Formats: sequence, structure tokens, C-alpha cells
Amino acid sequence: MENMSVNEPAKGELETVIGIDLGTTFSCVAVWDEAAGRPIVLTNSTGAKTMPSYVSFTDQARVVGQPAKSQAASNPANTVYDVKRIIGRSWNDQVVRDDAKSFPFRVVDGGNGRPKVEVSWLGAKKQMAPEEVSAMVLVELKRVAEKALGKACTAAVITVPAHFNDQQRQATKDAGRIAGLDVRRIINEPTAAALAYGLHGKKDTMDSGIAGSNVVIFDLGGGTFDVSVLSMEGGVFEVKATGGDTHLGGEDFDNNMVDWAVAEFEKIHGAGRANKLKSNARAIRRLRTACENAKRSVSSAPTTTLEVESLLDDADLSIELSREKFESLNDELFTRCINTVTTVLKDASLTIGDVTDVVLVGGSTRVPALQDRLKALFGGRIELCRSINPDEAVAVGAAVQGHILAAGDARTGGADLAGTTDLLLLDVTPLSLGIELEGREMSVLIKRNTTIPCRKSRSYTTVEDWQTSIDVVVYEGERRSVDTCNKLGEFTITGVERARKGEPKVEVTFALDANGILAVTAQDTVTGAKAGAEIKAKDGRLSADEIDKMVQDAEKHRAQDDELADKMTMQTALEGAVYSALSAARTKGDTDQVAALENVRDWLDYDSTNATLTEMTAKADFLRNNLGVAVNTD
Ligand code: AMP
Repeated sequence: MENMSVNEPAKGELETVIGIDLGTTFSCVAVWDEAAGRPIVLTNSTGAKTMPSYVSFTDQARVVGQPAKSQAASNPANTVYDVKRIIGRSWNDQVVRDDAKSFPFRVVDGGNGRPKVEVSWLGAKKQMAPEEVSAMVLVELKRVAEKALGKACTAAVITVPAHFNDQQRQATKDAGRIAGLDVRRIINEPTAAALAYGLHGKKDTMDSGIAGSNVVIFDLGGGTFDVSVLSMEGGVFEVKATGGDTHLGGEDFDNNMVDWAVAEFEKIHGAGRANKLKSNARAIRRLRTACENAKRSVSSAPTTTLEVESLLDDADLSIELSREKFESLNDELFTRCINTVTTVLKDASLTIGDVTDVVLVGGSTRVPALQDRLKALFGGRIELCRSINPDEAVAVGAAVQGHILAAGDARTGGADLAGTTDLLLLDVTPLSLGIELEGREMSVLIKRNTTIPCRKSRSYTTVEDWQTSIDVVVYEGERRSVDTCNKLGEFTITGVERARKGEPKVEVTFALDANGILAVTAQDTVTGAKAGAEIKAKDGRLSADEIDKMVQDAEKHRAQDDELADKMTMQTALEGAVYSALSAARTKGDTDQVAALENVRDWLDYDSTNATLTEMTAKADFLRNNLGVAVNTD
């Protein structure tokens, strides 16, 4: 892809703007299919539509996605995941401190108040900003899109949780830049999910009689839970309220199942062996995987068998799991989820009757009991929007937004479309933005839930006689005192009119762009003095130089990544071919073929880690030419 340049669409053809759901545990990329007139989710070379947001580093290389997740157990200190939990946060943030404790990889103070992850890569210690790690995931998604579409993809819409603040959005945008993407828009995940269902085109009437709709987005993934209420009127979505739990998801269901399975194991094998099981990390890992699979099974079948061969030494585990049992194990968590919906509706000052649509997002919303409880909450009045795969709805919506932007650009030649089209969809600012006044009081310029892009100015003055400079300290938050708000940055305006206190007039302007990113300026209306407006966020934000360096680094690794990606594709193809040929040869009783294939299987399992692409290709040729086995690398 190196020698391809900007994605110049042919005349009459719309530019391709890919939609990316950059998730905590999984990511997904989609695009608008012009020919089909609808969005499609793009698959990687193994046919997967979602990719674990994992990056794993070794002495030889770096891998991203499923191959990285597969290394999490064998290479825990250098396999990085969940960076979305720390991106755009400062080192002093309690969330970072708490998460850092539970990660098996190191998170350190990277200087300038920012956290960095520390891994050993190519034989050396390397510290990386969360943006850099996210960029690696984005590069892989970009590659998936380019391979699937057969052309360079440089423009993207990326989604973030509705509760992300300015710095978290900025950092996500920076990650995109490092990955070589032109991030056209950062949009809220719930808004994307609503777009995926075409709810922006729907003309509903609320109980109040006003045309519009109120949409509840229920997003339960592997490790995070978000509930948002959006109101839509005239093609504009507003986030009315959000809630949830950043540490609740399908993994908690799995944990409850593991505890139950261990207790069942104890009934059969006694406390001594159960204790041994609990302290055997590998056995517990295998048990957790089996539990997750059983959980998925009881979403579609009434019962399943939870089975692990030789779980501990020669002791097998085989227990029946019914859907009822699964539900009783997790009943309390389900109740917590449903109660959150009630609370968020209350925060949005809406009643159950005001809700027009409920959208399911995230793999864990496949649990039938949760769907039943949600339906019951709305009195059976609402059909849940669940026709789109819940793992893909956010990326699909991002692709719809990408298409809307591309279509808008085609019509206006790239000019801003604000207010000129019914297709334009706007988000709102999740938190109020303002500056600190004397007495540490917060003076709000842009109120929470204001539709963006927007611009607000307010006049301020001095608090002392002959004061010629003013510190402008910018905060976001909902409290009256800045002590409990989040500081975004500060600057000083000098050259203010020399006068008695209260006389000078300094106009402060906040400009919030369509991505929810803020620029602040201050100007004295008499002297004309103007302050450097760019907020240099003290914590959390990378500098332009740092980003440039990371862009160069990312490019340097691209060639290496390309080879590695081809190698991974080849490895997967070889594995698929060998395992299916082995089973066919065993059925046939062809012992020579079985022995030859087992040889290749062992090489793949034990000796192929450091193999080059040429060696892998040679193995594929051997399978094709000597053993008559087809190897499909498409
Ligand atoms: P996400 O991060 O949105 O992809 O969600 C992944 C979570 O969804 C994981 O915890 C999965 O175990 C869970 N999940 C996926 N499919 C199912 C299913 N059929 N039933 C229950 N949970 C599922």
C-alpha cells in the first residue's frame, strides 16, 4: 500500500469514508457500499468481522487483533488491551491507577502527567502512549478495509462513548492521525447505533405530540455497560443522559459461571482438588473459555453441557448447564442493568412512555433474559432493534455517518454543511465547558447537551485595579465549583486595558468543532490584545511533535506489519487446511497421509513462531504438491 496516495475518488464517485468502532475489547470496521446502497461490515482474511483490540509485542515482532489476543496467556506482560480505559486520561486519574493495578502489563508515569504502557519489544524496553497502541489497532482496521475494498482508505469516522470528555476525544483523534487516518468526525457510539437502524429518518411522535423520537441505546459488551438516551428531532440527535458501569459486562457472567463450575467440581472431587484447580491459572483459563462457550450456547438452546477434558490432571469436567441455571447465576447483574435504564431515563426527565425505540448493542445483549426484561420494562410496547448484529451496529452507524459526510462533501465541494441539509446529524457536548472565576466558581460558556459545532462568547473583567493580565483556566463539568470539575488547560492574556477593576472588557470565545474538540480565545475589546487561544491541555494530550514522531514510527513499522499480516494469513490458512485434511484422512483411515499431516501440524504448533513468510509459503506448496491438500489464502 506504500505507493498509494490519497484516496482520490473518480469523478462522480463518492469518497470512501470508513466507519470504525474502536472498542474496549473488540473493534470493527464498516463502509457504505455504493452499489448496494447500504452499509457493509468488512471482514479480515480469516472471515472475522470483529477484531480484538489487542496488541502483543515480542522480541521478533508485534501482532494485532486475534493473534495478539491468543498470546495474552503466554506473553501477558507484553500483550496490551483495554487501552480505551486510559486513553486521554492523566496519570493522576484514579481510573488509570485502579486499572493499572489489574492489568498484567505495566502502566507507568510517562511524564507530562500522562500514563504510558511499558512493554519489551524487539529486545528493548519501550514506553508507548495509549494513543500509539490504539493507532496500531486502527492501522490493522485500515489494512482490513484496504484489502477488502482493494483501494487506499484514508478517511474515517471513529466512534467514542457518549461520556468521553474533550481530552479522550482529542486523544482518539490523535490515534487516528498516528495511524495515517484523516479523522473526519468523532461521533458518539449510541448515536452511531441509532444511525445504523436508520432512526434519523424516522418520523415518530412522542407522547407530548411533538414529532421526534426518544431512543434508548442499551450497550452491554464484554467488559463495559453503557446506557444512553438520545432524543431526535429534525435529523438532529441529542444525548439526553448517559449511565452505566465501566466494569460490567459479559466477562462478569463468565466469572459467575466459573465460580459455580468450581463449586460443582468440588462436589465431585473434594475441596483439596478444587483448591488445586483454583490456583492453576491455565486450568482456570480453559474453564473460563468453556464457560463463555456454554453461555453463548444457552442463548440459543435451553441446555448445554459444560465440558473440559483433563481439567486438572486426569479429572474431566462435564456438567449440564440450563438456561435457567445461567439466569439464576447472573440474576443480580441483570437487575443492575435494568435498573440503570430506569435511572438514565429519570436523568433525561423522560418516562417509559416517552421512549419510541430501544436499540441493542454489544454481544452480551444476545442473552434472552436481558431482552425479555427490557421488553417487560417497556410493557411489551416496543420491539427491540436487534436485527443488526449487536457487535457490528456501532461500526455500521459510523459508516452511515461517513457516507453522509462524503455525500455532503460531494454536494458542497467540501464546504461546511451546517444547517443546509436534512441529512446532517449533529451530536451534543457531553459536559458543560467554562472558565474559572474568582472564588473558584465555574462560569459556563457552553452548556452540556448543546448541539455541536457551536461557538459562544462572554465578556469578563478584572478583579483588581490596574490588573493587566488575566489567567483563563478552562474546565469541563457540571458542578458550581471548579474543584470538582475537570481542568482542560489554561493560558494567560496580557496587555489588558490598565484600568480600575471591573472596567476592562475581555471577550472569551469557546469554539467547539463537530468532533467535540474545543478551541478558546480571549481578546481585550479596547486594546485588541489577544491571547494564544489553543488550549495546551496540561495532562493527557500529546504534543504535535510527539504525534509527528509517532506517525513516522508507525510508517516505519508498516512494511514489517505487512509481511507479518501476510504471514498470519498464511498461518491461519495452513492451520485450516491441515486440520480439515487431517480429519478427512483419519475418517478414511489413510495412515500415511495422517502421519504426514501430523508432521506439518506439529511444525505449525511448535516450530513456526519464527518462520519467515517464504518458509510458510514453502509449507503451503508442500501441502498442495505432495499431499494434494488445498490451501486457501484468499
Ligand atoms: P462485545 O465486546 O460487544 O463484542 O461483546 C462481547 C461479549 O458478548 C463477550 O462477553 C461475549 O461472551 C458476549 N457474547 C457474545 N455472543 C453471545 C451470546 N450469544 N450470548 C451471550 N453472550 C454473548
